[in-house]
Amino acid sequence: MPKHIFVTGGVASSLGKGLTASSLGRLLKMRGLRVTMQNLETYINVDRGNINPFEHGEFFVTDDGGETDLDLGHYERFIDENLTRSSNATTGSIYQAVLAAERRGDYLGKTVQVIPHITDEIKRRIRRIATEDTDVVITEVGGTVGDIEILPFLEAIRQFRNEAGRDNVCYLHVTLVPFIGPSGEQKTKPTQHSVTELRSRGIQPDVIVCRSEEPLSDGLKRKISNMCDVDMRAVINAADARNIYELPLILHEEGLDGFVCDLLRIEGEVDLTSWESLVAQVDASTRPVRIGLIGKYVELQDAYLSVVESLKHAGFHHSAKVEIDWIQAEDVEGLLASGRLDALDGMVIPGGFGPRGIEGKIAAAAYARENKIPCLGLCLGMQVMTIEYARHVLGLSDANSTEFEPSTTNPVIDLMTDQRDVTDKGGTMRLGAYYAVLQPGTKVAEAYGETVVSERHRHRYEFNYNYRSRFEDAGFVCSGTSPDKRLVEFVEAKDHPFWIGTQAHPEFKSRPDRPHPLFRELISASLAHREVRTGATTAQKS
Ligand code: GLN
Repeated sequence: MPKHIFVTGGVASSLGKGLTASSLGRLLKMRGLRVTMQNLETYINVDRGNINPFEHGEFFVTDDGGETDLDLGHYERFIDENLTRSSNATTGSIYQAVLAAERRGDYLGKTVQVIPHITDEIKRRIRRIATEDTDVVITEVGGTVGDIEILPFLEAIRQFRNEAGRDNVCYLHVTLVPFIGPSGEQKTKPTQHSVTELRSRGIQPDVIVCRSEEPLSDGLKRKISNMCDVDMRAVINAADARNIYELPLILHEEGLDGFVCDLLRIEGEVDLTSWESLVAQVDASTRPVRIGLIGKYVELQDAYLSVVESLKHAGFHHSAKVEIDWIQAEDVEGLLASGRLDALDGMVIPGGFGPRGIEGKIAAAAYARENKIPCLGLCLGMQVMTIEYARHVLGLSDANSTEFEPSTTNPVIDLMTDQRDVTDKGGTMRLGAYYAVLQPGTKVAEAYGETVVSERHRHRYEFNYNYRSRFEDAGFVCSGTSPDKRLVEFVEAKDHPFWIGTQAHPEFKSRPDRPHPLFRELISASLAHREVRTGATTAQKS
């Protein structure tokens, strides 16, 4: 029977509950345990699909096509497992299942209520991922203790311990210990209140992880231990880390995994070697490299979280520290004049929907191609690279995607013919993992080092096959296609060190210790470009 760890948050949102859960997951994996993770979101939306990235950051797409919360990205990157849509449940999806059962008459004339029907469905979701090949399930409960929407979830996890057995369940509560400037003190009262609130729902935390700016003294830990009635060893301090990948080591140092394993009666030793060498590599990553991220949601950087992490991972591989220049796509035409793009070593044009910022992205792709600046286009990024090439190299001046200009005479990006008449756009997205076949000898095939690859997708529009030969005759290589050759998955410019686009979202598969090949090669090309660029500047000065 798998062990269950439930992670709740108190005092404030955005405390890094997901990162704490992920770090614990990694520590348990390094003890040889088979770990899986999930999050329970308290919002009413059925899934992330229709929520704007400004609200909750990026959509994280799983292999099986789930459009999930960005926390799943942290989970995958830390525990190094591919999760599925079952790892993300929302209040909306839980009610939807219960209401469907009610309509079918499954409740045999009974009144349907939050307790037991909603709580039973929540418990079913928790058990669903606790498969036979799992030793530990970590469940993060979204929101903050004290929220109205969290109550059914707290009730469900409270009941869960009774059913699963005391030794099989651990409650971990993440709180904030703020520093109050004028009195020069760290304050434990918010933590105490938050634990009181949790207890009023019948849950006594086993472990409290306290986030703080500066380390907590033993005296403060003792106070929290006394007031909140947890073991002194179970007051874990997560003081601000230099980088997120350091967190598992900090939590281990604080004794988190040791205490949790004792509590759950899990035996064995932890082997930190792999993670220690990763953190050493992160610390040694100091060679500067400047990458422009040409996006539409640049004010909310979480909207591009996996892209940013992928760039960092690729940096670690090359001992480089990636500095990101967040460039608002709507400004790019103006920026062409300002010289901001000249100060870049490389560019990423990420995914997106809708016409805002498109012309700027096209201008940036053109600038990168003409000035031999390495450029990686992701999904929409590949589509704008295609439009750019059509306009400026093939001379099709009105080339566009029918997403932005439905009446263009040169729809180089278009819906698949079998999708044109579909009015319900919700059902037409190409989602999840698809295979692609790469053309040997291309830069993309060289980067991957193999010719059959699988990447995750989330889009509707495609490269218009009718234009393929015109593009290829003009030096635009379709370096990878779907196995049936109907869909173009990767493109590259022949006479350019790195001008590559993919219809997929490779950023979802990068790991800190195993960067994605396309990001790895982008950073490699960008470091080379930096040498030329800064060499040229030095030469000019002398
Ligand atoms: N809007 C484009 C499409 O639907 C690209 C989507 C994306 O970048 N994820 O095809």
